[in-house]
Amino acid sequence: MLRRIGLGFMASGVVWKSIEVASAKEKDDTQPLSTEDVGATAPRLVIVGGGYSGSKLAYYLDSIFNITLIDTKNYFEFTPDIVHLVGSPWNAEMDAAADRLIVLHRFYTRRANVVTGKVSHCGDDSVEVGVETNGKVVKHSLRYDMLVLALGERKPFPFGSNARTKSQRIAELKAFNHFIKEHCERVAIVGGGPLGCSLALEIAEAYPKKDVHLYHSTHSLTPSLPKVVQRYAFEKLSQQPNVTLHCGRRVIKVRSSVDRGGGHTYEVQHGEEPGSSVPRKVRSIFHHVAFGLEGKRSSAGERQKRPSPQPLADPCVDQGFDFVFHCTGSTPRTPEVSSQPFHKEHLTDTGHYRVSRYLQLFGRPNVFAVGRCNNMPWVRSYGNSEVQVNLLFRLFQQAFVAGTLTFDPREGIKVNKMLLPRMFVSFGDHGALGSTPWDGGLTGTTALREMLGTRKSLTQLFQKPVFYKTHQGDKIQRNFEQWREKEPTTNVEDFGVCGV
Ligand SMILES: Cc1cc2nc3c(=O)[nH]c(=O)nc-3n(C[C@H](O)[C@H](O)[C@H](O)COP(=O)(O)OP(=O)(O)OC[C@H]3O[C@@H](n4cnc5c(N)ncnc54)[C@H](O)[C@@H]3O)c2cc1C
Repeated sequence: MLRRIGLGFMASGVVWKSIEVASAKEKDDTQPLSTEDVGATAPRLVIVGGGYSGSKLAYYLDSIFNITLIDTKNYFEFTPDIVHLVGSPWNAEMDAAADRLIVLHRFYTRRANVVTGKVSHCGDDSVEVGVETNGKVVKHSLRYDMLVLALGERKPFPFGSNARTKSQRIAELKAFNHFIKEHCERVAIVGGGPLGCSLALEIAEAYPKKDVHLYHSTHSLTPSLPKVVQRYAFEKLSQQPNVTLHCGRRVIKVRSSVDRGGGHTYEVQHGEEPGSSVPRKVRSIFHHVAFGLEGKRSSAGERQKRPSPQPLADPCVDQGFDFVFHCTGSTPRTPEVSSQPFHKEHLTDTGHYRVSRYLQLFGRPNVFAVGRCNNMPWVRSYGNSEVQVNLLFRLFQQAFVAGTLTFDPREGIKVNKMLLPRMFVSFGDHGALGSTPWDGGLTGTTALREMLGTRKSLTQLFQKPVFYKTHQGDKIQRNFEQWREKEPTTNVEDFGVCGV
């Protein structure tokens, strides 16, 4: 049996953690941290954000660095399965599934300190984190030698949540599932990307009497995926009798009001997107990758202006929705990080961190941004976060463990090799849709097989962690110091490749 000895303090779900050897039940949180145990001589790596990127990185680097993982919640959540947990009636199997898919951070990290709190400021060598104890937020300052920002993007409820503990999150999902089942006859979904389409079909198939409306600004659903997938999504949803598609309609506003029974009712204001009826050339990610390098090349510190939105034609208002899901892609959290935004000059116009091909910030060799919070032009998916996390792991292994003391110039993100996103989402009871760079677009049962395989590999480490032998902290520290002196991060060429 896995044994885990937890050390540090734990208050209202807050854990400064811990050495992993005993089961969560047997942990002893009363002992002080031993420097020998936590390899305190190794460089201090602070990871802000415990989504897929931050959590996986904490797991991978646990044996090399002295890690502190800071997250607003005490668990990692496998987001793709939220669609099923909210869109289909809750049953006993879902209790087990929710338990499996929401994993405590302390379960898959062996030595890392896990802090449940919100980072409110990032300085040159420390971060400030607010930890809630007995209803009061106490601020702590944590020093770092290396900082990884894995802040992700802000997701609307039910995809994002303020629940800080695993039990709160499961209770919240269960209650919301009940609400959809019992109180929602008419729901709207704004955004026809992979998530919006997957959710629309899930609800429509699970509840044939519910009226599901899907709004999307262009005429092709899932526009970031290959044409074959776009067609499949469109056909499947059009055939579903209780789904109404509003393609080419951009939602301007969603308003809620209290109805006679005291519940909420929503109205959706939308209009025709100019030029949406004209079939688009293959743009989105492909365009961005192919032409972004020439036309829109950017350098660190330079900010690009977004084109101003054009007025919409034929405005309409649809009323009487019991709930509206926002699946339009999420907003970056970076401006939230501080009242004085952390290194403002590193943010693009959309609020994402502009990173080099090694995922570093300009002129800051020891600060990295991974996952959804950076300016990679790819579709935000697990597969793409995985590529970034693997890259950092390789770079750190070579430079600090193998002792090359520089990053290998052959490494680095190769945007051109990511022309197709790596992503799969479930689509109905017995199917899925998505794409990989090597297979192109996949649909139906073929995609489902691929999705289940990918899912298994993505979640395996969180559910059954395998721990590695700890490296010598003082050796890593020496290598780190030498690397830091040499590491050039002011090469503008390294920054143009990742996006605008
Ligand atoms: C409902 C849903 C379904 C999805 N389905 C799929 C799918 O089927 N396939 C697929 O490939 N991709 C899917 N995705 C996309 C996938 O979830 C993301 O690409 C991936 O989660 C990105 O990981 P991340 O670590 O960059 O960000 P996130 O997962 O957003 O994690 C960021 C973390 O940072 C924490 N944080 C933020 N600010 C602070 C702060 N100031 N202090 C402390 N902590 C902070 C947050 O609490 C959060 O835990 C889905 C996304 C959603 C929302």
